[in-house]
Amino acid sequence: MAAALARLGKVYAQRVRGELDELTQVAAGLESEADVRPSLEQLHQHLHRIAGAGGTLGFKTLSQAARALEIEANGWLSQDVVALDVAQRRRFADAVATLVDHLSQCETAPTQAVAQAPSARTTAFGHGGKVAVWLVEDEIPLGEHLVHLLGQFGYEPRLYTRFDAVAAAVRDQCPDCLVMDPHSTAEDLGAVEALMTSPSFQALNCPVIFVSANGDFPSRMRAARLGVDGFMLKPLDIPRLVDRIGRILEERHADPYRVLVVDDDRDLAEHLRLVLSADGMDVDVLSEPEQVIEAVATFHPELVLMDMHMPDYSGPELATVIRHHDDLLGLPIVYLSAEQDRAKQIQALRSGADDFLTKPISDTELVAAVRVRAARFRQLANLMTKDSLTGLLKHARIKESIVRELARAQRTGHPLAVAMLDIDRFKQVNDRYGHAVGDRVIMALAHLLKQRLRKSDGIGRYGGEEFVVILPDCDLQMAQNVLEDIRARFEVLPFLHDGHEFRCTLSAGIASTGEHPEADDGQLLIAADQALYAAKHGGRNQIQVSPVL
Ligand code: GH3
Ligand code: MG
Ligand code: MG
Repeated sequence: MAAALARLGKVYAQRVRGELDELTQVAAGLESEADVRPSLEQLHQHLHRIAGAGGTLGFKTLSQAARALEIEANGWLSQDVVALDVAQRRRFADAVATLVDHLSQCETAPTQAVAQAPSARTTAFGHGGKVAVWLVEDEIPLGEHLVHLLGQFGYEPRLYTRFDAVAAAVRDQCPDCLVMDPHSTAEDLGAVEALMTSPSFQALNCPVIFVSANGDFPSRMRAARLGVDGFMLKPLDIPRLVDRIGRILEERHADPYRVLVVDDDRDLAEHLRLVLSADGMDVDVLSEPEQVIEAVATFHPELVLMDMHMPDYSGPELATVIRHHDDLLGLPIVYLSAEQDRAKQIQALRSGADDFLTKPISDTELVAAVRVRAARFRQLANLMTKDSLTGLLKHARIKESIVRELARAQRTGHPLAVAMLDIDRFKQVNDRYGHAVGDRVIMALAHLLKQRLRKSDGIGRYGGEEFVVILPDCDLQMAQNVLEDIRARFEVLPFLHDGHEFRCTLSAGIASTGEHPEADDGQLLIAADQALYAAKHGGRNQIQVSPVL
C-alpha cells in the first residue's frame, strides 16, 4: 500500500510539474494578450484539475492553494474581465510561483502519511486532514447536537446558524461536504438557489446535502435540479447522514482508474498515457507484449487498452493469452485500432476482448469510453470483494489481507495488530427494533471504523455483527488506544427508532505480533478471538488484549 501510494504520488508529482509549467506559461501570457479570457479559462481548467486530483492523491496544501487561485480566476471570469491591470497580473504570477513552491514541499506528503501512527491520521480520505463538514441549522441546540455527533464519527463539523454566513465563508474555503436545510425561510430558498447556481460555487464542486422538513415531490425535484448530492428528511437520522456523506466522499476520493496500454508505437502509447492521466487515471504503458501477464499481475489494471497489430503478436493473440488465466476472465480488454473492416473487428472480438475503438478517436471519446468500462469493472470487482451493506472487505478477503500483512510485517520487522470486534447483545437490537434498524447499527460502526482508522489499515466484516481490523505498523498499546477510542465513540452514538433513541456498545479483542512473534495468521486471529471472548465475559463494552502465550 505504502509503495503503491508512493509510486502514485511520484507519478502525480511529475504530472503536476508539467501542469505547473504550462500554468506558468499561460500566466505569463496574460500580460501581452488583448483578451485574457481564453487564457483565464485555460488557467482555470489547470487549477481545477490540480485542486481535484492533488487533493485525492494527498497533496493537500497544493490542492488548497490551487483551489484558492481557482476561485480567484473564476471570479474574474464571472466579472467579464477582459484585461487585467498590472497589479493583478503581478499578483497572479506570484500566486502561481507560490503554487510551484508548494509542490516541492508536498512531494513526499503521501508516503509520510502512511508511516504515521493511527492516532495521527484519522480519516479515510484526507491523508492527514480531517473531513470538514459544514452544517447550516438555525435551531442552535439542534445544530450543536448534530455537531457533537458528527464529531463522534471523526468528522470536523462546523456550525453556521445563518445561510448568508456560510455563503460568505465558501468564498475563502471549501468544506468537504455542506449540509443544509434549504428552506428555513422563504428568503433562504432564493439565496440557496443563487449560491448553488453561481459559477464560483459550482467551480468548488462541493458536495451538498439538503436536510428538509418537507419531502414533497416539488422540493425533491428542485433539489435534484440544483445538483444536490443527497436529500434527507427531518428529524435527521445521523447514522444515515453519515452513511450518505461517507458514500459521496468515497466516490469522489476513489483511487484513480488503472489502465494498461499495450502498444508497440511508443509515441501513440505516450499520447494515450497523457490523455488518460490528464483525466486523473493511473496509466501504465507496456511496449513489450510478452510481459503482459507480469504487467497485469503487478499493476492490477481495471482495463487493458490494446493495439490490434503489433510486429510479433496480434491483439487477439494477446487477449487469448490473458483469457487463459481464470482470474483475468473479467478484465476488460479494448482494442484501439485503425481497422475499419467490420468483419475483421468482429473476428478480433471473438478472442475474448470486449470492445473495439476505432482510430482516429478524439481525446474526449477515448476518455469516456475507457472511464465507463473501468467503472463497470470496478463495480463488479467491488461486488465480489466488498460487503454490500458496509462496503468493507468480505470474510475471505480480510483473511487474505491478514496473510499478506503478516508476511509484510515479518519482512519489515514492524509490529502488526489484529482485532476482532463484536456488537454487544445485538440480537436484542434486532428483536426490539427490527432487522432494518439492526442493519443501520452495523453500517454506523462500519463508518466509524472507516473514519477512525488509517487508509492503510484493513477493515472487514467478518460475520453478521463481527468485524476484523488489521493494523500494520502498530503495536499492542497503539492498537489498544485506537480501539478504546472507537469503543468510546460508539457507545454514545444515538440510534433512532420511531422517535425513540437507543444506544449500543461493542467488545473487542486484540492480538499483536509483538506478543505472538511466532503466530501464523490463523493463530493470530484465534488469539484475538479469545481476547474478545474475555471481553464479553468481563462484562462487555470493553477491549481486552491477548497476553503473551
Ligand atoms: P453478544 O453480546 O454475546 O455478542 O450477544 P449478541 O446478541 O450480539 O450475539 P449473537 O452473536 O448471538 O447475535 C448476533 C445476532 O446478529 C444474530 C443475528 O440475527 C444478527 N445478525 C447477523 N447478521 C445480521 C445482519 O446483517 N443484520 C442484522 N440486522 N442482524 C444480523
Ligand atoms: Mg454480538
Ligand atoms: Mg456475534
